[in-house]
Amino acid sequence: MPKPNKNSRVNKPKIYWSASRHRTSVECPRQFAFKYKMNMLYDQDETPFLYGSMMHKHLEGQDVSAELERVMTIMERPIELASDFEVHKVHAKEYLERLKVKKTDKKEYEFCTPIKYPSGRKPKFDIKVYGFIDRVISKDRIIEYKTSTAPYSPAMINNNDQFTFYLWQRWAETGRLHELFLLNFFKSSKSRKAGVQLKLVKRTLIDFEDLMERMEQQWGKCQKGDCMEKKESYNCRWCPFKDICSNFDL
Ligand code: SF4
Repeated sequence: MPKPNKNSRVNKPKIYWSASRHRTSVECPRQFAFKYKMNMLYDQDETPFLYGSMMHKHLEGQDVSAELERVMTIMERPIELASDFEVHKVHAKEYLERLKVKKTDKKEYEFCTPIKYPSGRKPKFDIKVYGFIDRVISKDRIIEYKTSTAPYSPAMINNNDQFTFYLWQRWAETGRLHELFLLNFFKSSKSRKAGVQLKLVKRTLIDFEDLMERMEQQWGKCQKGDCMEKKESYNCRWCPFKDICSNFDL
């Protein structure tokens, strides 16, 4: 997710919820506690975050030569990654043209939106959801850039709460249902060449109602301190707290 910029269009609250906080609290409550309750500092250099942040900058038209040099020194498989990046640069140009992205389209659209149920039901908590949408383009459409190790499956797209959060935000702000283009730049592997995946993602008001309900449940758990359970998972491999995790009796 992009960092807040100096020309912030919203007042970022001290306490807020976000798509990444929601995902972390569901995937590993313990990691949530390290990051957001104990506010532990962590280094993202060893995670796939680096490549993703470089691609984001590139897609926003910024020079990324310094980031590429850093990726080359830190990441595993630097030669393959440099060659993947060359492939992705070509795809990025082609796909942004295909999606008719204009220089004037809103980039890194920052939002801070109070929880709102489509049914009009009153929220239990006074929560604001804060975040950024990668691009807001014409005709009620938004774009979400991703970098990953493989194309997203239909189930991964359908179950992705982050996409629902962004589409909910557009609905909450404009009263209209938007569509989201997922532009996923996946890297090469032994069996597959680097490429790009373009998918149109839609959600309904029922999906927003469901998300708001689950978000309030997670928020309630985390407020009560019910957020310390350890979940051994694939994410442990990339977790910045993996070295200290077992030493904490949370
Ligand atoms: S190492 Fe695994 S269990 Fe521990 S905080 Fe990280 S993701 Fe959670």
